[in-house]
Amino acid sequence: MSQRICVLYVGGTIGMSASAGGLVPSKVDGDGIMQLLQMAAIDTSGLSIVALGNPIDSADATPADWTRIARRIAELYNDYDGFIVLHGTDTMAYTASALSFLLRGLKKPVVLTGAQIPLAQSTSDGPANLIAAYRVAASAQVHEVVVCFGRYVLRGNRSRKLNAHRFDAFDSPNFPRLAEIGESISWNAESLLPCPDKERFELVDYRAGAVLSWRLMPGAAGDALIERLARPPRALILESYGAGTGPTRDPALLRAIAHAVADGSICVAISQCPWSEVDLALYATGRAYATAGVIGARDLTFESVYAKLHHLLALGLKPDAVRRELLLARAGELTA
Ligand code: ASP
Repeated sequence: MSQRICVLYVGGTIGMSASAGGLVPSKVDGDGIMQLLQMAAIDTSGLSIVALGNPIDSADATPADWTRIARRIAELYNDYDGFIVLHGTDTMAYTASALSFLLRGLKKPVVLTGAQIPLAQSTSDGPANLIAAYRVAASAQVHEVVVCFGRYVLRGNRSRKLNAHRFDAFDSPNFPRLAEIGESISWNAESLLPCPDKERFELVDYRAGAVLSWRLMPGAAGDALIERLARPPRALILESYGAGTGPTRDPALLRAIAHAVADGSICVAISQCPWSEVDLALYATGRAYATAGVIGARDLTFESVYAKLHHLLALGLKPDAVRRELLLARAGELTA
């Protein structure tokens, strides 16, 4: 029997066309996608292609788009065995992270893919990505949101776009790849999430602007951050160095952070290193931040922290509960 797979088209390079102003999103070519899969001997009788509003460049995506995609999947959930989301690569890791929280307890595969070169061009990586995504979406062993791109299948909330040009654009630096794609798909079965007892979707509305990030740089004056913290954001991601260190010679900066935390801001340190585990206790320059009330994001990616903070705040949790929940895995996003 053919699998019931739904392709949700959000936009991205995969469906773009050239214009005088550069590549722009265009309408989904449903027939082209069907033909392409048929040429790979895929039975498309159970396949549907759904356009999700006007296609966008994912650089224009907002947290409201994450909820919109999740709600559409939830509406169609019982009608399909798996979902493919065609999405731009630029913010795919953010969307994948958010979907993993919105669609908590997912039993079916939700596979995000896209392309570095539009399908309409003969050198496109889109056909290979689409065919691989179909095979993953039709697989019974995936119960989570994944990114399927180039040669890899990755946990969505562990994925990162690391290359703007190569066909292997994504990887999951802090977590094993879930599968490698070749003639067949070779699964890393022990890294896959087990099938949950039941779905516990949390289809909340996100508030744009609730989470701010700040990159630490050598010698950059702390004044700008101190000024910003005078109106404390609900959550601040501090892009720290290495294991979670930052400048400590300016006590006013640490004081401003401590005040913001005391006022209810959630302040989270992530690392500027793609391969990292934040441990604020390791250096005195990290401990000073822990003392100010900053929590270390351990091995969460930036994208996952950003989406998870939106999610936990949208659930209406109090700051202490957000801090606690941030470091408890909801969808395999961090190592216990
Ligand atoms: N700017 C494009 C997007 O994110 C890039 C891509 O899809 O590769 O929509």
